[in-house]
Amino acid sequence: TEAKPLDFIRQIIRDDLESGKHPSIVTRFPPEPNGYLHIGHAKSICLNFGVAQEFHGKCRLRLDDTNPGRESSEYVEAIKRDVEWLGFHWDGAVRFASDYFLAIYEYAVQLIRMGRAYVCDLNGEQIREYRGTLTEPGRNSPYRDRSVAENLSLFERMKQGEFPEGSCVLRAKIDMASPYIVLRDPVIYRILHKSHHRAGDAWHIYPMYDFAHCLSDMLEGVTHSLCTLEFENNRVLYDWVLDTLQTPHHPRQYEFARLDLGYTITSKRKLLQMVNEGRVSGWDDPRMPTLSGLRRRGYTPEAIRNFCAFIGIGKRDSQIDMGVLENAVREDLNQRALRVFGVLDPLKVVITNYPEGQLEEVLAQNHPQNPDLGARPLPFGRELYIERDDFMEHAPKKFFRLSIGHEVRLRYAYLITCTEAVKDENGRIVELRCTYDPASRGGNAPDGRKVKGTIHWVAAAQAVPAELRLYDRLFIKAEPDGDRERPFTDFLNPESLTLLSRCMLEPGLAKAQPADRFQFERQGYFCLDPDSRPDRLVFNRIVSLKDSWQK
Ligand code: ATP
Ligand code: MG
Ligand code: MG
Repeated sequence: TEAKPLDFIRQIIRDDLESGKHPSIVTRFPPEPNGYLHIGHAKSICLNFGVAQEFHGKCRLRLDDTNPGRESSEYVEAIKRDVEWLGFHWDGAVRFASDYFLAIYEYAVQLIRMGRAYVCDLNGEQIREYRGTLTEPGRNSPYRDRSVAENLSLFERMKQGEFPEGSCVLRAKIDMASPYIVLRDPVIYRILHKSHHRAGDAWHIYPMYDFAHCLSDMLEGVTHSLCTLEFENNRVLYDWVLDTLQTPHHPRQYEFARLDLGYTITSKRKLLQMVNEGRVSGWDDPRMPTLSGLRRRGYTPEAIRNFCAFIGIGKRDSQIDMGVLENAVREDLNQRALRVFGVLDPLKVVITNYPEGQLEEVLAQNHPQNPDLGARPLPFGRELYIERDDFMEHAPKKFFRLSIGHEVRLRYAYLITCTEAVKDENGRIVELRCTYDPASRGGNAPDGRKVKGTIHWVAAAQAVPAELRLYDRLFIKAEPDGDRERPFTDFLNPESLTLLSRCMLEPGLAKAQPADRFQFERQGYFCLDPDSRPDRLVFNRIVSLKDSWQK
């Protein structure tokens, strides 16, 4: 394996370990349980768990559950499942920010006692107005100079649930003229009379992200708190909280670029909207960029990890082409997927000189580039199916597949020549009549004549019918949520799903297992969908064989 230069985060960690700043490192992956994880989260998971593995440290899974109402244990379970599926193991038990509600509350009381926090009765709009702008300092809230005693009492009453939602908040008392807008007396607690998925109705006040996150990191002994670039501005507040409270331990926050993948959306809120509006069949719709969707589609965890390693970690936001993700799964499956025959759009072929009632088997390679994967027998008979578009009645010169009077190779079987196209009353071809060369078994003629075209096929009597689901990109625009005028749902691709319900597959596929992945020769990689039943097989196309996407 070639040595890739370390990204900036790995360099920082290596330096911190070499200098002895930390004897070992602790990271965390901190999703909010308000939706299913998506491919963007995979980048963060691979980074946090990856560096912990590489540098012999620990990585925790912490559910950042400080917004009751949006969060649920369904999401918690889905997140755990997806992290494990990607191949990572968190250190110890799963943690929850809500485990620390009491500790965080006590830190807030400590800030009040220090004169560094106050209860403010301005409403949200007023707070924004008082905050000022980048070029103008803010103004002090009229409630800024409440006494410590009054603040302690009001905060206690907030906690007891005496005040309605939105009537007041707890704010850190920092500096309304700070060049850092986040330091202009940020809100650190708000009132919410909502049931929490774990804490129930115990709390009427909930800490804000900026207050809860740094303290949770600190309480867990995190050394490197890795987050995406949009939190860069919040770092001064992260540090202010820990410095002001003189906590025994001070994790450092580092920001990296989020993953932005073209032709899709990586925002839980918008993905939830698509689920709720029925624009997809659920979080695990195989077109969704969620990990559960990619899993159902047939992506392997290895492919997703390789993709994350390939795109790397940097400090500049940029959009990654969907083709990069598709290539990652293609490369992975090319190595290991067994080759099989499946006919997507069947056209019947009758071999007129093949004895009626005769049946034989030919041997097909499971992976032509890897003979260790063996071979399988395929039934061959007088009636077969081939792809409708492997035949052309009036073929141009460069068409090397089947046409009248021309010879083609049935892969692993015989050379056949078409003699007649049988049509129905509408002129549609319903059957081809062909002859075969009995001496060409295996696919080559004894006289050495050259036959350029090779096509796949299945024996009609033994073929198993199946529904195949072909997927295209979910959106027709590289940045569906980048339009000011129109909602992202305007750019959904109406052709993102193609159902082929009359496909014919080689008989072995009746025994396909959920974890199996196949290359249907010439058609792409496929896996069984959970909708599949023994009497009604359903396969998803994971990805086509070549990047055929046209921009
Ligand atoms: P969303 O907007 O989809 O809800 P989020 O950032 O609010 O995303 P969290 O559950 O808070 O989602 O994210 C958990 C972790 O995953 C955070 O550290 C976050 O920075 C990271 N993360 C989320 N989206 C991406 C992304 N597109 N690329 C890289 N990391 C991401
Ligand atoms: Mg978040
Ligand atoms: Mg979010």
